[in-house]
Amino acid sequence: MARYTGAVCRLCRREGQKLFLKGERCYTGKCSISRRPYAPGQHGQGRKKSSEYGLQLRAKQKARRYYGVLEHQFSHYFDLATKIKEGKTGENLLAILESRLDNIIYRLGWASSRPEARQLVVHKHFTVNGKKVNVPSILIKDGDIISLNEKSKSSIKFKSIIEAGSTRPIPKWLELDMNKLEAKKIAFPSREDIDLDVEETLIVELYSK
Ligand code: SF4
Repeated sequence: MARYTGAVCRLCRREGQKLFLKGERCYTGKCSISRRPYAPGQHGQGRKKSSEYGLQLRAKQKARRYYGVLEHQFSHYFDLATKIKEGKTGENLLAILESRLDNIIYRLGWASSRPEARQLVVHKHFTVNGKKVNVPSILIKDGDIISLNEKSKSSIKFKSIIEAGSTRPIPKWLELDMNKLEAKKIAFPSREDIDLDVEETLIVELYSK
């Protein structure tokens, strides 16, 4: 399935929740979901009741869109989550999604949104354990070091992105050294560290059918 290239605010309106796909605009009064808090389309204001399957599907779509993940990638992450012996599958699934490189770049405040983080990774602005990378879906392991590459550290564009992102709280499973512009993943994220308002048990139910 191809990546969605339509108006991203429609995705938030469809899920009835801010997915923070447009950077700074998401925190202003220009946010579409604040102005039109109903689903897009002709019947958007009429849709109310959902079946059990509908609720499970919406939970999965919300998580998928929040992290910008394609259907087959999402199902691959679910398979990975089922193989983890400790913890709950739904929580492990979210922790895996959090461990993607593009999400971590966003969490560190080095991009204003996950879509922007994805683009910056593709343009090779970061290194993982000293090696240049260009794959946003890389899963970062505990102990891995993520840095901004030397050339990008002096870029004016990055200085302003990082300055804007510096007010965002850093999750406790990441350790950030702002002087070196270097971060380390120090733990597997727990559910309380993840601010996504989704019932992950519904996703597990959907995939368990
Ligand atoms: Fe979603 Fe951001 Fe658009 Fe608001 S501005 S609807 S949070 S993408």
